[in-house]
Amino acid sequence: MHNLISKAMETHSLERNELVYLLKESSFDSDLFYAADLIRQQFVGNNIHLRALIEFSNICQNNCCYCGLRRDNKNITRYRLDEDTIFQLAEYAVKKLGLKTIVLQSGEDLWFTRERMCSLIKRIKTLDTALTLSIGEKSYDDYLAYKKAGCDRFLLRIETTDKALYEKYDPQMSWDRRKQCLLDIKSVGIETGTGCLVGLPEQTLESLADDILFFKKIGADMVGIGPLIPHPDTPLAQAKGGTFTLACKVMALTRMLLPDINIPATTAMETLEPNGQVKALQAGANVIMPNVTLNSVRQHYELYPGKSNTNLASDDAFFLLKEKIKSIGRTISQDYGSHKKND
Ligand code: SAH
Ligand code: SF4
Repeated sequence: MHNLISKAMETHSLERNELVYLLKESSFDSDLFYAADLIRQQFVGNNIHLRALIEFSNICQNNCCYCGLRRDNKNITRYRLDEDTIFQLAEYAVKKLGLKTIVLQSGEDLWFTRERMCSLIKRIKTLDTALTLSIGEKSYDDYLAYKKAGCDRFLLRIETTDKALYEKYDPQMSWDRRKQCLLDIKSVGIETGTGCLVGLPEQTLESLADDILFFKKIGADMVGIGPLIPHPDTPLAQAKGGTFTLACKVMALTRMLLPDINIPATTAMETLEPNGQVKALQAGANVIMPNVTLNSVRQHYELYPGKSNTNLASDDAFFLLKEKIKSIGRTISQDYGSHKKND
């Protein structure tokens, strides 16, 4: 095993140039994945946490250049689920599928005011479940209100720590504001999830190394990493996009440096690589987010092409997912799967 991988296993820290070296070099990839798998087992065990994903609105005020939900994409049928429907999906996930976390995700849809979100949060928290939001940039007071209403966790990827790159591909958005949102989420006491895209045009390995160091610096509780998959109805339609292997390497190194956090095997990984999620689970990941969104609208939540075909949580698909998890010697967690810090 390369001495840098051994160092990461023992100290959970690497310098920027050391991260870049491991990201660049391909001859140690299988050792790196193996080491990340060992660290995962040592720090968070064999349990896999299943989180029910509900994509409740694809309406978005933003115009991120990579995303199919961007405001300027006219080639999409917009939808917004009402509170009753969202609650029923959550109820199905908790009571029928036995899931212990509900994740509510959407574009930045202004219809969901603070009051409406808090009403939804309170209602879902009457179920026996943890609740995660992934609804974009909000004010400090919004995050505080979500916390008081019962929100446990929030996912907001920084996307890239390269400020110039971020502001190029997320027009009219500010990197400093996005970072401030993460700090606000943390300071109101909500578990904080972030992450990045791998494969933005002009993104360098140095910048991916910075992303990993950023996750550590802000003390992320969860980190989601996905390869960029070019969407035909966006300005990045012709981009090369990310590879499964590089995204997996960024994920494995994140596990080595933040050994006790929660890391999902992302849907984008499964979309790019056959059995991609299982491979990710064996390279550092410990979370899967089965999609329980209504079949009738799921196809319209197309962040990237091919996404809607993966991770279906019909009863049959859900059974198969559980079998797959057992077949690699892992167990399905029976608790809420909060971040347990290993100080
Ligand atoms: N609107 C919220 C949540 C929904 S988008 C937000 O932006 O935070 C959730 C994630 O989808 C984004 O953080 C982004 O990293 C990812 N995503 C968007 N377009 C993508 C693409 N073309 N390929 C891969 N991931 C993409
Ligand atoms: Fe909207 Fe999120 Fe897509 Fe950006 S990534 S366009 S904020 S849904």
